Amino acid sequence: MGPVFDDRPSEPASGRWRVTRREALAAIGGATIASSIGTSRTATDPDRDAPVRVRVYPGAVPHQARLRYGLDALYRDWPVPLRDAVAAIESAFEQVLTYARDRTRLESLEISVERGRPIRIPPSATPLSADAVLPSLETLLERFRERLRNRDALTGGACHVFLPWSPLNFRVGYGGTLAPNSITGEGGAGDSGDAQTVANVGATEVWDSRAVTRNMAIHETIHTFLPNDIVAAVGDAYCDHELGTAVRTEEETLEISPMATAYAGPDRIGGGTRFHGTGCSDRDRFSRHDGNEGIENWTYTTELSDATCEGVTRFLERWSAP
Ligand SMILES: [Zn+2]
Repeated sequence: MGPVFDDRPSEPASGRWRVTRREALAAIGGATIASSIGTSRTATDPDRDAPVRVRVYPGAVPHQARLRYGLDALYRDWPVPLRDAVAAIESAFEQVLTYARDRTRLESLEISVERGRPIRIPPSATPLSADAVLPSLETLLERFRERLRNRDALTGGACHVFLPWSPLNFRVGYGGTLAPNSITGEGGAGDSGDAQTVANVGATEVWDSRAVTRNMAIHETIHTFLPNDIVAAVGDAYCDHELGTAVRTEEETLEISPMATAYAGPDRIGGGTRFHGTGCSDRDRFSRHDGNEGIENWTYTTELSDATCEGVTRFLERWSAP
């Protein structure tokens, strides 16, 4: 079986279920993916006047991997790729606010992107399970949430982003987020409204490039700000990825925006990113896709498409509505 790099399984949109390869594998393995439970805001209402919080947590980066980023990186929790990932996330929200304010929307909303303390996820207590060797995305997200709960960091309405260094973990792939904690501010029944998501910086750094690291960090974070109904209403999209763009900037060059990263190329090893995402996406529905024919160079821009900015803006408007 080849590597399965799924950034996120699909969710039903417009009444259509799409089962991804990874979901199918998860089903075979007996894992269940909780379905999304829509809840109205109740006791766990986030404070509407508080800034929208995004907190980013570094995972453990092995010594070997740190060496290539210089001595400086040996002693710190934030080697350069992780710092660049946070900066990219920060820039994405600045872009959304600029987009919104140019249209006199979200004028008083603040978004804070913060650095959290490192998260260490030790090997599983059940050494004979597959999860002990390569934790699945479900397991990683669960254990991340456990850590947050233990730290009292689940405050009801923040987005928590974990940046693990797991280049060989094909079960996590580039990362992802799963219901019921996949939308910031909309927790499942009885749960807080904190969302959590994973961007596997080790995978993008080792298999792809810093540009892909930046884009996937943005991509996995922005997923938690794009509920299905808004995505469906913006453009003619069935899923978040279709809000992205792939623009031919030269004869043989295609430039990919964050939400389209890992989805814009042909579905084969080395098509754009080293691995193709297995979540949903239909190239014909992309906010813009100029086609892959004759493309030799894949470049990445952290600039969000207008459709992505519009989607996040609508979500934040809903968030800050009285
Ligand atoms: Zn995705």
